[in-house]
Amino acid sequence: MNIRTDVLVIGGGGAGARAAIEASLNDQNLNVVLLNQGPVGRSGLTVMANGGMQWVSHPEDSPEAHFRDVVRIGCYLNDQNLIEVMTEEAPERAEELLSWGAEVEMDGDQYYLSDPRGSGASFPRGHFIQGGTYMVALRNELARHSNVTVMEDCTATKLLSIGNRVIGAAAINIRNGEQVIIESKATVVASGGLGELYLHTTNTPWGLHGHASGTGYALAYHAGAELIDMEMVQFTNIQIYPPWELGNPALLSSVCGGKYVNALGEEYMQLPQPRDMLQKLALKEIREGRGTERGGVYIDLSFSPLSREELEAHLKKVLGGETAKGRWNLVKEMSVDNPDPRNWKVEWAPGCEHFFMGGVRINERCETSVEGLYAAGEVTGGVHGANRMGGNALTDIIVFGARAGKYAADYARRADSIEPDITAVKEEHERTSRFFKSQGLPPKAVRDKIRHLMSDHMGVARNETGLKKALTELESLRANDLPKVRAPQGRRFNLGWIEAIEVVYMLDVAEMMVRSALSRTESRGGHYREDYPDTKQNWLKHTLVKKLDNAMVIGTAPVVITKLNPPGD
Ligand SMILES: Cc1cc2nc3c(=O)[nH]c(=O)nc-3n(C[C@H](O)[C@H](O)[C@H](O)COP(=O)(O)OP(=O)(O)OC[C@H]3O[C@@H](n4cnc5c(N)ncnc54)[C@H](O)[C@@H]3O)c2cc1C
Repeated sequence: MNIRTDVLVIGGGGAGARAAIEASLNDQNLNVVLLNQGPVGRSGLTVMANGGMQWVSHPEDSPEAHFRDVVRIGCYLNDQNLIEVMTEEAPERAEELLSWGAEVEMDGDQYYLSDPRGSGASFPRGHFIQGGTYMVALRNELARHSNVTVMEDCTATKLLSIGNRVIGAAAINIRNGEQVIIESKATVVASGGLGELYLHTTNTPWGLHGHASGTGYALAYHAGAELIDMEMVQFTNIQIYPPWELGNPALLSSVCGGKYVNALGEEYMQLPQPRDMLQKLALKEIREGRGTERGGVYIDLSFSPLSREELEAHLKKVLGGETAKGRWNLVKEMSVDNPDPRNWKVEWAPGCEHFFMGGVRINERCETSVEGLYAAGEVTGGVHGANRMGGNALTDIIVFGARAGKYAADYARRADSIEPDITAVKEEHERTSRFFKSQGLPPKAVRDKIRHLMSDHMGVARNETGLKKALTELESLRANDLPKVRAPQGRRFNLGWIEAIEVVYMLDVAEMMVRSALSRTESRGGHYREDYPDTKQNWLKHTLVKKLDNAMVIGTAPVVITKLNPPGD
């Protein structure tokens, strides 16, 4: 099947849906195709969001203060031109989202939350908009744009290029297994994060596939785009005990008033803390022998100032919307010994992948280093620097989603359509079909090895020995295991086949991450090198990954600083 369009958007989460809407708003004569691996509004990470979204609405707050908070918590690795745009445009984009039907929970008679909730914001700036309602609003708005064609259950497998220009993509229609070639004047990658490279991640809640396998980073890389800060991973807590999940454990403290204590019952940390510190301080307790037998620490709800009823109400809320009811009943059933949450001690360990700060390098027009290729959302780097401040991903994706749509549409109006090279199309078909063979390894076998490697060596704490070991093992996986990967037979809705296609890209992305982590010989934000524990002034630069002559090349790039220098500079 061949399709010709003006703008192609790959990924239909918050960033992609917003990009498609803006491209359509920009020019109703343009055709826009939105390609999404799952159903829009029920796949990807936006729909899972717990509901914190930051923008300035408090009368004493300002975009300037928002800017300063994001850059400070991002350890000055943020591209400041992007943050200026994000903080200036966020209120307008947020109001627009509300006008499309997203529901924000009121806190008394105001809609910002009076408590900054541990995010470290210098003013109350959080707004409680759950991912579900965020996506319902975007999905409904999309339906009002007749020039947007939404293709669900379609996954992009390659960006098609001529020289340094992207001219479309090859995809697979998962429903019938057919190859789809989309010729586009401008292409936006908005394919979300990469949590599935880790054993523990919030991106696959209850084992569900969050489509966060990181394919988009690899698509952009193979098309020649620059990627930055591929070592910058944000981790959150892995709940160890009780075994039922209580939503995002960090909220047990910030929302429910629990205290962070070690196995000796000592409070070892108080909020607010940037997210990297939550992980590092817990790791310190555990490594220095003050952890639990199971290798964790606690959030102790007995310290909460809330009444039992208030605590239950908050816990239900952090469990998330409608699903809360069933889960809450389960939680109660499994805690028969002590159904009063004021007596609960939640045991957790650091190291659950939550968000990825690195990614495709963009400028404020969401242009990448490749002509005709735009990017927005979690797949991009440079916005959150070395550490994302809570609630700013939902802001980032809507601001830059809209910008990517606008500038892609502008480009499409000026650009010619170029027919993809028939040989490249055929080669891609052969490449993706190669997995159908009679014997071999299930993709899950390789996927699991990657996850173990990444969790063992690219987790909260890294060092040269571990990173080099990871690299050697990734090279061995590439040489020995990848050629054997085999998909189950049949093309229709064959998710095993899609997994086989993805695992090749997971390996590429893992390698970019490990090589970048090896090259950054300092600690900053989400990148903690045990062998280089200090933040170094001469490392205030991005690591940069690029494919050159078929090789992965690692370099650096300057950080754009527009108005805020790091202390001591
Ligand atoms: C549990 C959880 C809670 C969170 N809570 C918050 C919060 O409260 N506040 C906040 O600011 N942030 C939060 N975040 C982070 C935030 O949700 C994400 O960073 C953000 O939603 C990412 O949006 P996106 O549009 O870039 O990607 P996504 O929403 O993940 O969308 C990407 C889409 O691309 C599709 N896709 C992927 N690969 C392909 C391909 N090859 N071809 C076609 N389609 C593809 C996927 O199916 C998916 O629909 C949370 C994240 C998680 C996991």
